[in-house]
Amino acid sequence: MFDSVFLDIPPLQAAGGTVALPGSKSISNRVLLLAALCEGTTRVHDLLDSDDTRVMLDALRALGCGVVHAGSSIEITGIGPFGRNPASPFGLSLSKPAPALRQAQGEREAATRLFLGNAGTAMRPLTAALALMGGEFELSGVPRMHERPIGDLVDALRTLGCRIDYLGTEGYPPLRIHPAQALQLDQPIRVRGDVSSQFLTALLLALPLVARRDVVIEVTGELISRPYIDITLNLLQRFGIAVRRDGWQRFTIPAGSRYASPGDVHVEADASSASYFIALGALAAEPATPVRIEGVGEASIQGDIRFVDAARQMGARITGGANWLEVARGSWPLKAVDLDCNAIPDAAMTLAVMALYADGTSTLRNIASWRVKETDRLAAMATELRKLGASVNEGADFLRITPPAQWRAAAIHTYDDHRIAMCFSLAAFNPAGLPVRILDPKCVAKTFPDYFEALFSVARTPAPRIPVLCLDGPTASGKGTLASEVAHRLGYHYLDSGALYRVTGVAATRAGFALDAAHEQQIAHLAATLPVRFAGGRVLVSELDVTDAIRTEEAGMNASRVSALPAVRTALVALQHSFRRLPGLVADGRDMGTVIFPDAPLKVYLTASAAQRAERRHKQLISKGISTTIATLRADLEARDLRDSSRAVAPLKPAQDALLLDNSSQTVDASVAQVLQWWDGKQAFAGQQ
Ligand code: C5P
Repeated sequence: MFDSVFLDIPPLQAAGGTVALPGSKSISNRVLLLAALCEGTTRVHDLLDSDDTRVMLDALRALGCGVVHAGSSIEITGIGPFGRNPASPFGLSLSKPAPALRQAQGEREAATRLFLGNAGTAMRPLTAALALMGGEFELSGVPRMHERPIGDLVDALRTLGCRIDYLGTEGYPPLRIHPAQALQLDQPIRVRGDVSSQFLTALLLALPLVARRDVVIEVTGELISRPYIDITLNLLQRFGIAVRRDGWQRFTIPAGSRYASPGDVHVEADASSASYFIALGALAAEPATPVRIEGVGEASIQGDIRFVDAARQMGARITGGANWLEVARGSWPLKAVDLDCNAIPDAAMTLAVMALYADGTSTLRNIASWRVKETDRLAAMATELRKLGASVNEGADFLRITPPAQWRAAAIHTYDDHRIAMCFSLAAFNPAGLPVRILDPKCVAKTFPDYFEALFSVARTPAPRIPVLCLDGPTASGKGTLASEVAHRLGYHYLDSGALYRVTGVAATRAGFALDAAHEQQIAHLAATLPVRFAGGRVLVSELDVTDAIRTEEAGMNASRVSALPAVRTALVALQHSFRRLPGLVADGRDMGTVIFPDAPLKVYLTASAAQRAERRHKQLISKGISTTIATLRADLEARDLRDSSRAVAPLKPAQDALLLDNSSQTVDASVAQVLQWWDGKQAFAGQQ
């Protein structure tokens, strides 16, 4: 996952290959709640692992559900609809008197507190379920959650006899839920359908709890996002509840309905997440090498799968089966569209970015619900699309987008909204060849923690477009620490080229070769076929962990010997180049800037006095329990420097265009800040935050 402050996506050019998508958020959280309301255990397969499902699982645990991870599945043991105590089915106050009695006694009961992050799919249904079940609860979330309306749902529940108080602003979470009084189920329950379909979903999921008689829900106002209601009805069906639907206005939960676990449930891949990869195929995949999406197909129960039709209308070439899709470029440029997006509110954000590549002005209509999502998406999309150079007309419930006459490099604000981060990554295909900066990229964790990894696994660009930051310098100058920290801050890959020479030295010694010119060809052959892999800060050779073995002083000296052999250096070039992968690379060594990546946009040559370096190395070794003296270390360092800088091939020296950084009296943090500042100064969006 990219947890950097920003992620710079270099200009991208092509796409192709297979992606497996994470499970649908909407299905995941509905299934979790339904499993919690059943008796017995439900095995949930392919559940989405994200912020929103995590808060739901935490809430269920706090309520007394069994939650057991079993391989790639999760087993949820429900508490049953009426549980062990009708007044408090979650069994939270078994030993206490019934709620009504406690109230009469004037006792202020402690509430179970549930923190629900920014997960609307947890807040709304849990509010309804807990209000109907009885017990004292406090439901809260992140500040944005406290700006997302819930008043219409609370009103509907109150007319039934539920008791819910607002703890902050009227109409918004946080909420305090008290045990309900006698429920009135003889009248139809009215709920507004034109703000969020989640209110209706919440009632549909929770009301079977009290369906001692037919329970009727009537929707007032036009119901938006109907496909999400379809998901709800479909999943209720799988859990034994057959809701009768009359049009989109009236829903009846039959008397005697009871949640019944289906035993196993498979969660489909997220159709909204698929939209980014469908768009990717439409923008950049050749028909012979399409983008293949696995886990969701045209038979999906998710409404956002209809994005396929919209993408086709814009020119995408799409084929598919029950649980897969293949997408490639059809018309190019894409065709401008005028679409009612009510049925695909989330995926329609992807259309807004596709509209940047269209042959005219596109209009996306009926998207007023965007205003009450993770952020005011209408305003946010308009602002960010304009930054890229598009002309945008933002209406109350529509967006009209004209592609940029001239693209601009932009730093995209993501407003803690996963979908904004994901859809704007597609702007990196701009014909002007400009990079795109995504601020706070980790917000994708809400539904798709590995989104960018998935994107970079199927997006391609010529190597010269992938930025490399070179950090060269002598032994013990602090390159490794600096380079790996800079890589982390930029979300880039990291190449420790010294490790390759160290591994070669160890391998050659183990093979019994003297490390001299007489064995140059054998050692070079070893280097060319090194089965070396870097994983989570460890160095593996044929899956053997050699991280510590290559860090000794002797291994450093041996590395210096093999690195002076020209054939060995040549043998390692291709391996080093292969580290230049999206979205970028920080490489440290001796010749990164001079030989391996001469076209790198930033080269830094790091120095520190020999005295300082010997002292640092001494501290390092002492902390590892290795005894040595500063004088010996200094002599070794100087010998190594001399050999590295006087050898015939790729001697240690600053590249002509390198910036010098003497860190003798600088902290690591200060050096990191300096390098990042130089790097930022080289970017097209310098200064935009
Ligand atoms: O950086 P490190 O101390 O791990 O490097 C070990 C040795 O490998 C260096 O002393 C140097 O001789 C060699 N090396 C090199 N070119 C690089 C990286 C390291 O010659 N790019």
